Amino acid sequence: MAKMKTKYHVVGGCAICMTCMYQCPMQAISLIEDVSAVIDENKCIGCGRCYEACQPGAIEPYEVEVQ
Ligand code: SF4
Ligand code: SF4
Repeated sequence: MAKMKTKYHVVGGCAICMTCMYQCPMQAISLIEDVSAVIDENKCIGCGRCYEACQPGAIEPYEVEVQ
């Protein structure tokens, strides 16, 4: 059976407050042209800090398969 790991992504409704960027210990979050925050899946360790910090609820967890 595949081993799964939780990661987080921005699903929409980002207010560009940048709170998540300050919370992320991995510097995994950047801004796309003042439109939305975006999370680099390869840098994200799934700590959930951004998810807890995002007031508009723009960040959601998802599962990825790990080798
Ligand atoms: S905390 Fe939420 S609303 Fe603020 S920049 Fe991050 S994803 Fe966007
Ligand atoms: S879950 Fe943690 S490591 Fe991943 S983007 Fe959010 S704050 Fe950064």
